[in-house]
Amino acid sequence: MLSPRAARVPASQTQQVTLEVTRLRRRGIDVIDLGAGEPDFPTPAHIKAAGISAISGDFTRYTPNAGVQELREAICARYRADYGVPFEPDDVIVAAGGKQALFNTAMALCGAGDQVIVHAPGWPSLPAQVQLADAEVVTVRTHPEDGFRLHAAAVLEAFTPRTRAVVVNSPGNPTGALVSEDDLAEIADAASRRGAWIVLDLCYERLIYDDVAHNLPRVLRERLPERSILVGSLSKSYAMTGWRCGWAIGPAELIAACNVVQSHATSNVSSITQRAAIEALTGPQDCVAAMRDAYRERRDRVLAWLAAESRIRCVRPGGAFYLFPDISELLSPDGLRTSADFAQALLREAHVAVTPGEAFDAPGFLRLSYAASLARLEAGTERIRAFADALTRGAGRAPTTGA
Ligand code: GLU
Repeated sequence: MLSPRAARVPASQTQQVTLEVTRLRRRGIDVIDLGAGEPDFPTPAHIKAAGISAISGDFTRYTPNAGVQELREAICARYRADYGVPFEPDDVIVAAGGKQALFNTAMALCGAGDQVIVHAPGWPSLPAQVQLADAEVVTVRTHPEDGFRLHAAAVLEAFTPRTRAVVVNSPGNPTGALVSEDDLAEIADAASRRGAWIVLDLCYERLIYDDVAHNLPRVLRERLPERSILVGSLSKSYAMTGWRCGWAIGPAELIAACNVVQSHATSNVSSITQRAAIEALTGPQDCVAAMRDAYRERRDRVLAWLAAESRIRCVRPGGAFYLFPDISELLSPDGLRTSADFAQALLREAHVAVTPGEAFDAPGFLRLSYAASLARLEAGTERIRAFADALTRGAGRAPTTGA
């Protein structure tokens, strides 16, 4: 028998799509993968070189659990340069991706009897981590009609005396929506009055496409310095998903508790990754801007291609690299009933991988990652439109099984 904890949450649904793509590709099928949430660009050459030189220079042993001092200083310098907010290296722990930084935080902050507010549609690991920490998830919904805006009023309504923390993700996965400085300020003031924490997931912070105010670290620094945690990552900004490097920044006491959790789990992030991370954060930043500009063009092109199918309704996202269209008009009780059915049939019949909205607590939607080449994106959207046309012609058809 397994523990109740192990049975409490399903495996990461965002990772499952990648597994399925790998399985089909091994059978020689040309799958267009718009499922995986990861950059298609290689890690920039100067960052790879720093990793290689760490290996050749024998920088291959344990490091301090929280990461080497130089990396924690580089993270602080980045936030000072980008947001004008000062942090000290002791406020930082380096973890194996933003995911582990968030997991450490959930373990260090929450327990039985606590409630944690999250927003949906949202990344599935955020509520799963809260549940693994024995706490209760309270979900605030956002809606496509107003661009999936997180309204402070809705979060305030969800507060109870048991609210331990609010998890805010901006830009959001899967919606790409940005949380406004004003909304966050209002949420932070409520958290301040009620003794709650704010966990701010900024993993997509360098992928914002328009010139909009998004200095959320400063808002928290001014409103709730004693109970705010910022989580960031190299994965998306520097195309470094496989290197596994993220961080949490927060009050020393919380960071010390995260250190305890991590010291009994994985210890330090790979020493080689840490050297590459220092180069990423302190070296030339034009690679970040170049990738962001490419994503912006892809977003606009895919939106235009999808617009030709009026039953796929899509909000223009302000950040991250996902589109999150409503496809409910393509579903029917006697055909593909759910977005999960739709995604499965699309993969098996049209060989396009997308992530169903169910993974993000939003049935009726699909997540399409545009972190793929324009040629693959064009071919993928073409296949999606042809699949939708065929659905109309063959109305009443049930989803097929087997590939
Ligand atoms: N964050 C990415 C996604 O949403 C990677 C998968 C994961 O780690 O959940 O697809």
